[in-house]
Amino acid sequence: MKVPFYRHSLDASSAALVAEVIQSGFLTSGQRCSRVEERLRAIFNVSHAKLTSSWTQGAVATLLALGIGPGDEVIVPAMTFVATANVVKQVGARPVFVDVEPSTLLIDIALVKAAVTPQTKAVIPVHLYGQMVDVPALRAALPAGIKIIEDAAHCFEGRRAGRRPGSDSDAAIFSFYATKNVTCGEGGAVITNDAELAANLNETVLHGMSATAAQRFSAGRYQHWDVERLGTKANLPDLLAVLLEGQLETVDDRLEQREALARRYEESFADTPISFPTIEAGAVSARHLFAIHVPDGRRDWLMRMLNDQGIGATVNYRSVTELSLYRNDASVRRGSFPVARAWGEGTLSLPLFPTLQEAEQDYILNVLRYEILPFLDSSETEERGVAAL
Ligand SMILES: *Cc1c(COP(=O)(O)O)cnc(C)c1O
Repeated sequence: MKVPFYRHSLDASSAALVAEVIQSGFLTSGQRCSRVEERLRAIFNVSHAKLTSSWTQGAVATLLALGIGPGDEVIVPAMTFVATANVVKQVGARPVFVDVEPSTLLIDIALVKAAVTPQTKAVIPVHLYGQMVDVPALRAALPAGIKIIEDAAHCFEGRRAGRRPGSDSDAAIFSFYATKNVTCGEGGAVITNDAELAANLNETVLHGMSATAAQRFSAGRYQHWDVERLGTKANLPDLLAVLLEGQLETVDDRLEQREALARRYEESFADTPISFPTIEAGAVSARHLFAIHVPDGRRDWLMRMLNDQGIGATVNYRSVTELSLYRNDASVRRGSFPVARAWGEGTLSLPLFPTLQEAEQDYILNVLRYEILPFLDSSETEERGVAAL
């Protein structure tokens, strides 16, 4: 059997929606984007939502809109996808890494507090694997004036104490990348309750221009535009936005399927050497990824075994501070991120998506139970594991 790491749920009806946009003659950001943005405002109960071409471009546009740049510091967790740190560098500011908590792998708020300097302008907490960071607690730990930008790439459906992304921060940013819980291939969104940030963001998503394409032609006559601040190019085209509308209506049903699959994995690994992050009381995880930790340096071996049996698995993530760009940066203090490093050396993610069939999950669990776990703590893992096949 072959089980892919991820299988999307777009179908022929999505293709028909794209065809409609093509026939409308207007391909870039217009009415379809506005409709999705309106739904996002309602779902997250925020005053502003902006669709973007990716999480990455949305974050660059947000940092530019907040005036963050050279000389500024932004605190990020060491355990995340590299984009969280890269966007800080892209605007000329300095990412300051802190370690994560061992049980949840979420940014350690006490360490954030200790990392604040007069140059700190923002913190980007990451809702890793779908579980929200306690944003009100993070806010309480920070001096006034430091912005909180939530990396909610994994956390469209997540909640903590009934609060959702965007409720307690300055902005939250989603990703609609190909494998995310809500997807249009490539895309993202920034939500905020800050009117000034939203106004600036409208410009920084489009080179800093004072009018969008739709506005420039809306009166039937060309209107001049100006540029007061530098922006990037971060808008999402209607062609892709149209794929999101239907998914927003069914996202909670799909979360139930994700939750059931994740619980089944958790129960199966309860009495094994495999560990996984704790979901804390009061938190509803979006269950974006099912990441496990394999002890004793056996991760790469286990990964190969799974791949050889046709099972898609991947690594989310090695500690960002172990990647050459950051490891070779003298300002990144070596040895300061033991939790992120240890997790990153032993973690791998198993297939988790709403249409994963029971028979497919059975297959994954059986391969693990009978062909991998019995050999996990053997000193001759390599030979016996292969021989057992
Ligand atoms: C996917 C991801 C991103 C980047 O999203 P893009 O839409 O691909 O730019 C950022 N942060 C995290 C945690 C992610 O998983």
